[in-house]
Amino acid sequence: KYYSVIYQTTIDHTWLYKIVIPLLIIIIIIIISNRKLNKEIEKRKTIENKLQKVANIDALTNIYNRRKIESLYNKELIRVKRYKRELSIIFFDIDNFKFINDKDGHAIGDEVLIKLSTVVKSNIRTTDFFERWGGEEFVIILPETNKIKATNVAHILKDKIYSTDFNIDKTVTCSFGVSQFEETDSADSLLTRVDDAMYYVKRNGKNNVKVA
Ligand code: GH3
Ligand code: MG
Ligand code: MG
Repeated sequence: KYYSVIYQTTIDHTWLYKIVIPLLIIIIIIIISNRKLNKEIEKRKTIENKLQKVANIDALTNIYNRRKIESLYNKELIRVKRYKRELSIIFFDIDNFKFINDKDGHAIGDEVLIKLSTVVKSNIRTTDFFERWGGEEFVIILPETNKIKATNVAHILKDKIYSTDFNIDKTVTCSFGVSQFEETDSADSLLTRVDDAMYYVKRNGKNNVKVA
């Protein structure tokens, strides 16, 4: 007599629980923590951008501040020297601003600074850099511009500011100094020249442009 022998192979599934499931759990944990990390990076980037803005933008006028001018100016000078390009600077200061503050108050003085910045911003090229040097003094860096063109810009700004209604009973005017970077210039010598030109206008009746 023979017995029939059935040979059955059984697959051991326990490895599935021992390896695949823990592996899946690890993968899920990695994906979740990766997402969290990405969110954190995004958050930090946003904060960094905000900090950068605070560090470089003047809070009142919303234009570049002095800190930013210095880095922009130095970068521009490197480019200008290396590629022998033209670059001009306009430096201007509000005339008798102290009088506006004293008569109408500091808040109105602030309004004048804000409005004046808007007027200037909308009358220069987007490639020009407009900055608040401090107080009621401003600088415009004009890349690819010679002093003839920059002087024209200064005259346009002078006229625009003069004809703007600042909602005070006094006409707001500014004194402008203009100059162009020359081969023999240093960063300081060009700034000194525009500053001197501006003060020349101050001593000679104000509300005008002097090119040096
Ligand atoms: P000048 O025509 O010679 O330039 O005379 P000025 O009166 O404009 O110049 P001065 O330097 O005597 O006065 C500048 C004033 O600007 C003094 C200061 O209180 C004022 N000032 C500086 N920063 C601000 C500001 O952020 N807001 C206001 N409202 N005033 C400011
Ligand atoms: Mg002034
Ligand atoms: Mg001043």
